[in-house]
Amino acid sequence: MRFLAGVFTLALMACAAAEAPAQSEATPIAEAAPQPTPAAPEAPRAFACEGALTQGGVALCRARPGAEIFIEGEAAGQADEHGWAVIGFTRESPASLRIEARHDGEAEALTLAIAARQFDTQRVDGLPQQTVTPTDPAVLERIRRESALKAEAFTSQAPMEGFLEGFIMPVDGVVSGRWGNQRILNGTPSTPHFGYDIAAPEGTPIRAPASGVVVLAQNDMHYEGGLVFIDHGQGLITMYLHMSRLDVRVGDVVSQGQMLGAVGARGRATGPHLCWRMRWRGRQLDPSIAVDGLARARTTLN
Ligand SMILES: [Zn+2]
Repeated sequence: MRFLAGVFTLALMACAAAEAPAQSEATPIAEAAPQPTPAAPEAPRAFACEGALTQGGVALCRARPGAEIFIEGEAAGQADEHGWAVIGFTRESPASLRIEARHDGEAEALTLAIAARQFDTQRVDGLPQQTVTPTDPAVLERIRRESALKAEAFTSQAPMEGFLEGFIMPVDGVVSGRWGNQRILNGTPSTPHFGYDIAAPEGTPIRAPASGVVVLAQNDMHYEGGLVFIDHGQGLITMYLHMSRLDVRVGDVVSQGQMLGAVGARGRATGPHLCWRMRWRGRQLDPSIAVDGLARARTTLN
């Protein structure tokens, strides 16, 4: 019930937001007659995308409602009933990507230039060894079980429009690990770090960066400690790792700024921090650049 009520409220908010631009577009027309005129039929909107156009970045696209989106010919979701779609770019994204929107047998395409980034190498020592090179059969079994839980949560397709709100930072603190760094954990070369680490004292509140629905809330994961996933719509999911306390449960609809829980140091961590992550359709994205990117996209695209 809570979930359905939340979706309904969000849909209303989104409708109100979508109608606002039509009025502002009408204002600059100088020759507008002084007497009231009937509302003109809305001109078809050209396909456009804007946002953090860089490796690990996220963008919004405006297309025809229900249009199917393709990146380099590969299916990448569908615009919602207001024409909004989210797209994301991997850490290894090529310098240009062809984005296509197909609707009713018609296709509109554009090419996005994706900026390359430099990634550092980061050494982290002093981690519990079973969180770096696990060998204990019980630990391996636990990791398998927890991977299945996460994989299931990643399939969420909640009909939300939280991605339109312009994200806020979930925690006030000091950046302690940037996204995309190559990592050497306890001396062992590891996969890139797909999180943005913000160090803050244990117990510091973690707030939802935008509205969404909680699709995973686990108190005690091997790697992540307390772990929460939020689906913001269009397959855009944010993750909160190493939490010491959870204030939400699966199915809760959260609004921007709502408390999700508190910063901790559980799982694969050497001290209290939030490891903030973002994922879209199986791609790892950088949440720290999404904050500016999504807000800019929202003001540019109407
Ligand atoms: Zn991290």
